[in-house]
Amino acid sequence: MDRAADAEPSGELTRIRGLALPSLLVKLLETGQWRNPGDDVLRQIMPWFDDPLDFLIDYDEIRRESRFLLTDDEAAATMFRLKRGRTATAPVELPWLDVDLAFLIATNRHAGDDVAIALDYRTSTSDPRVVASDLFTDPRQYAWRTVTPTFSAFAAALNLLGPREYRYVGPADIFDQARPDRRGHPITSHDDLSAWLTRQTAQDPEEPFTYVIDLAGTLRLAPQRSEHVACAGREPVLGAGEISFASSRGTWTVTEISNQSTGYCPDPSSWPAVAAALDRAGLDHPPEFTHPIVFRRCSQCRQRNIVKDDNYVCAVCGNSLPTTWNMDSPGTPLP
Ligand SMILES: [Zn+2]
Repeated sequence: MDRAADAEPSGELTRIRGLALPSLLVKLLETGQWRNPGDDVLRQIMPWFDDPLDFLIDYDEIRRESRFLLTDDEAAATMFRLKRGRTATAPVELPWLDVDLAFLIATNRHAGDDVAIALDYRTSTSDPRVVASDLFTDPRQYAWRTVTPTFSAFAAALNLLGPREYRYVGPADIFDQARPDRRGHPITSHDDLSAWLTRQTAQDPEEPFTYVIDLAGTLRLAPQRSEHVACAGREPVLGAGEISFASSRGTWTVTEISNQSTGYCPDPSSWPAVAAALDRAGLDHPPEFTHPIVFRRCSQCRQRNIVKDDNYVCAVCGNSLPTTWNMDSPGTPLP
């Protein structure tokens, strides 16, 4: 996939059908933070909503799914309360959607539910309103309702701006073997690390260890080849991978660090949370992952891929891979 062409950059703005994406949405998309925070979390800000949603996680998906809004089928347009403001004789107001000033940012997970969340530019060109369909309050009449008055309020309400939490996405039997009461050792100081490494007699202390960053932002270590989900005690993490240390005059520093975890498949954008945990423990470390890995799941054959050389193509079926992290897409079956 040609990412540059797909993003359709126009000056500094990324546009979908001529509408400039809010810069916050661009940032969330680019950093992989644009994600469904959980259907229960969504329901808190749109209590009328009853169907599960998938967030559209790249520009191509947003453009493709939004094509439906421009349907030529008049009966469908009326049923879904879609109108073209450009050719309308009067202003198009809620509960109608002005499809010339809107595109979709989330759509139904299950085919046939026909529900969505849209950005509605009638209120603002820079921080548009967020609206969602409502066919639950009155099943006979589809309506578009305000979720939040601005996109920034939407992102804040869903806490999309904090560090990303990675849920376990690996095989279930490995999860079952992990014990919630036996996590990796917390490292909050150089002394913690030094003492722990002294006890690791089963491996050379300069060989890589398993690490996770727990939800409190603390580095946790386990011996080489330990499962990350065991190191995390089955919890979600802010980061996971392999880490190597070297000692010089009694001081341990981090020499190599990756996001290599097939249990959590974290994105390289997890680095700030990883670096923060290392900083908090007072450990010198490289300025970024020394071995970053880009994980993607193929939407066609569901295979996990490791993207090499920016070649976003599935190694198994040849389908193009999304440009943003999607390893925990809701409803995605485990391999
Ligand atoms: Zn594939």
